[in-house]
Amino acid sequence: MRTNRFGTVEVPVIGEGTWYFERAARAQAVAAVRRGLDLGVTHIDTAEMYGAGRAEEIVGEALSGRRGEAFLVSKVLPSNASRKGTIAACEASLRRLKTDHLDCYLLHWPGSYPLEETVAAFEALQAAGKIKAWGVSNFDVDDLDALLAVADAKDIACNQVLYHLKERAIEHEVLPWCEKHGVAVVAYSPFGHDDFPEAGSSQGKVLAEIARAHGATPRQVALAFLTRRPGLFAIPKAADVAHVEENAGAGDLVLSVEETARMEKAFPLGRKGRGLPML
Ligand code: NAP
Repeated sequence: MRTNRFGTVEVPVIGEGTWYFERAARAQAVAAVRRGLDLGVTHIDTAEMYGAGRAEEIVGEALSGRRGEAFLVSKVLPSNASRKGTIAACEASLRRLKTDHLDCYLLHWPGSYPLEETVAAFEALQAAGKIKAWGVSNFDVDDLDALLAVADAKDIACNQVLYHLKERAIEHEVLPWCEKHGVAVVAYSPFGHDDFPEAGSSQGKVLAEIARAHGATPRQVALAFLTRRPGLFAIPKAADVAHVEENAGAGDLVLSVEETARMEKAFPLGRKGRGLPML
């Protein structure tokens, strides 16, 4: 599995999302995470929001006895992101996850508490060993600029944002900003949250042709495209063992320059819109 730089550590490019994990059969979701760990899908993304804590509980069960294999990320809701609230939210997440630390803790999206408060809480959590690193999610360039006023770029591990074949808006400004400042970019909903190109469509045919040339699948080609640059990661959610196995298989797939150009043409970037799209 390829790795990219995530803050101060190397992390596999393909991870595992857990939004709506609580809707899957629990044993199946647990098995998917554990199978992922076997295959190097160690970046596990969760949040206090998901299933109101139930996704974290499932992840905690899946990591029982295997915590050391995972790069575990969770998120604080903006409504909890005051100085005290962030610390309390993190401690509650740690209890649900049955661990004593997170590898990275994110602000889920920009909210109304001053960023200095949230950052101060992140730093206190880091000093206490409860989080190894911190980052943000759904931050547009103006949010990132505001963050730079209260934090060093080197301390911002990542920005987790919506990025899939039909939604490449981050490539206009957010991705260049993050690349310039050494901030990892984590693509969420990399399959469009169940809006993956149909097999028979013209876009689906491009994916299938490139996939065939590599003995790969269209979804693996999509994940390879989305993680094609240093500092890019993708966290498809898979509560199904076969799905996680397929996704893990994208970890070593590298598209040629010609294939990448073909993908860029088949899935055009489009014009820059107003604001950062998010789910
Ligand atoms: P997604 O990963 O784009 O798509 C998930 C869907 O794809 C599920 O129905 C899953 O089915 C299916 N799937 C996964 N692998 C597959 C495969 N190999 N073949 C066929 N189907 C496959 O959507 P997402 O859950 O919205 O995004 C991924 C993660 O990003 C989330 O779970 C969450 O951790 C994170 N996220 C973060 C934010 C944020 O604001 N920071 C927002 C949205 C998402 P099964 O579950 O049945 O395997």
